[in-house]
Amino acid sequence: MSSKYDVVIIGSGLGGLVCGYILAKNGLKVAIVEKHDIPGGCLQTFLRKGVKFETGMHYIGSMDEGQSLQRFFKYLSLTDKIELSRLDEAGYDVVSYLGDRYAYANGHEAFTDILSRHFPKERNSIGLYMRRMEAIAERSPLYSFKNMENPYWMDSSNMQIGVAEYIRSLTDDVKLQNVLAGIMPLYGGVADKTPLYYHALITDFYNKSAFRFVGGSDIIVHLLCDSIREMGGEIITGMPVNKVNFDHNGATGVTLLNNEIIEASHVISDIHPALLMDMVDTPMIRKAYKKRIRSIKQTLSNFTVYIKFREDKVPYLNYNYYHYPGKSVWDGHFFYMHMCDRQNQKFVKSAVLFESMGWEEVAPWKNLPPGERGAEYEDFKARKAQQMLLNLEKQFPGTISHIEDFWTSTPLTYRDYTGTLEGSMYGILRDKNAPTESFISHLTKVPNLFLAGQNINAHGIMGVIIGSVLTCGAITGIDNLIKQIKNV
Ligand SMILES: Cc1cc2nc3c(=O)[nH]c(=O)nc-3n(C[C@H](O)[C@H](O)[C@H](O)COP(=O)(O)OP(=O)(O)OC[C@H]3O[C@@H](n4cnc5c(N)ncnc54)[C@H](O)[C@@H]3O)c2cc1C
Repeated sequence: MSSKYDVVIIGSGLGGLVCGYILAKNGLKVAIVEKHDIPGGCLQTFLRKGVKFETGMHYIGSMDEGQSLQRFFKYLSLTDKIELSRLDEAGYDVVSYLGDRYAYANGHEAFTDILSRHFPKERNSIGLYMRRMEAIAERSPLYSFKNMENPYWMDSSNMQIGVAEYIRSLTDDVKLQNVLAGIMPLYGGVADKTPLYYHALITDFYNKSAFRFVGGSDIIVHLLCDSIREMGGEIITGMPVNKVNFDHNGATGVTLLNNEIIEASHVISDIHPALLMDMVDTPMIRKAYKKRIRSIKQTLSNFTVYIKFREDKVPYLNYNYYHYPGKSVWDGHFFYMHMCDRQNQKFVKSAVLFESMGWEEVAPWKNLPPGERGAEYEDFKARKAQQMLLNLEKQFPGTISHIEDFWTSTPLTYRDYTGTLEGSMYGILRDKNAPTESFISHLTKVPNLFLAGQNINAHGIMGVIIGSVLTCGAITGIDNLIKQIKNV
């Protein structure tokens, strides 16, 4: 197969960029094609009235020396060039439930000690819980760099246990059950569906250490794009891929919206797999596969209020705030995060306020283009924002009087700006009742067509980077790649 590129990557989200970096570093000629003018997908930020807002990457974990994400950031040449601000070690996340606030502290012992003050009779259960979270994380090969005999190994047993059922088995204290599930927005959790595996990895990831980016998550995009270009890769923006091309041996490249054809020996898709299914027409991808991919349910989307505060009025919160208004954390929440502009900041300039929202709430406007959705849509957004800001005021009295301006986004915005199906935050919904059906491999039946991004392996910075390593390993050889990562 004679081709212009070794690899063409569809989509420049985190997964596309990390794959581009790894493959270019391994000497392959790479092109990344992005439909938007700006690369980055969920890592994008935007400016309004001089302040920056992050859209889909607000905090990261495990970045202390030797911890799992730090190892990958070193390999990706990111560590020395980004500035991080550590979240409060005595409470990086705060869960507000039935009128009380519960701090999640870094480190298993501190986590157990602080929660045990609220639940003195439950110290053993809390300790057991943290040990189980760590044990699950430790078994995950590329997360812990242990059990590396098979880096592609998936923890199917913990994929078949639901997070809610596990927590119920641990303690009869309903309040504690809810508090332990208090980070469920980080994975779009559904009580009777979400596997324990994802909860455990995310819990351990942030419990090890937790940070915000100083100045915004888009630094990752700039650095990865610069490195990819320096290594000879190309990043084409403002151009959707319309079609993957095939001959009888496999994929031959892609066709862009402007009918330009990019030839390549390998194709990696970083877009939502259901969208990819509309671009592939080859007998190698069977109808049954397409049907399965299209039938997987999505995680919920959200409604977001982006807030600009008046200068020097609102104290900077060095933690993330998860508020649950009802009896069960699985029934609804908002979460609230401040943006970090510089180290040791005293006051905050911008913040985001999220509440989960289903696609059906915005479905009436789904076929209308941005900016042309009419007065009813604007009214819907204004009412929702008002209700959310009033709820915020109840939690942090005096806050709304310091708001200078605010903007909103809906599931339609996520659909339009990241291309994710139904605007879902984290892509497909993993289901412990159907672990195989709701799992998507990085491999397809086409030998040189691969998948990357949050819908394979796992979502989030760690899940997507590990997934990208697994995807690229199928092209460059996984053992060689792991050796490179270990040796940086
Ligand atoms: C609100 C929100 C908050 C989050 N907060 C965090 C957090 O604090 N920490 C964390 O670790 N994770 C967080 N996440 C999750 C994390 O951002 C994602 O899991 C991850 O960034 C997804 O990366 P991806 O590679 O799957 O690509 P995506 O970000 O989904 O990007 C896909 C790209 O493909 C492009 N594309 C789509 N169709 C085409 C086409 N036809 N042709 C060309 N290009 C196309 C899109 O424009 C987009 O740029 C958050 C997510 C959301 C939504």
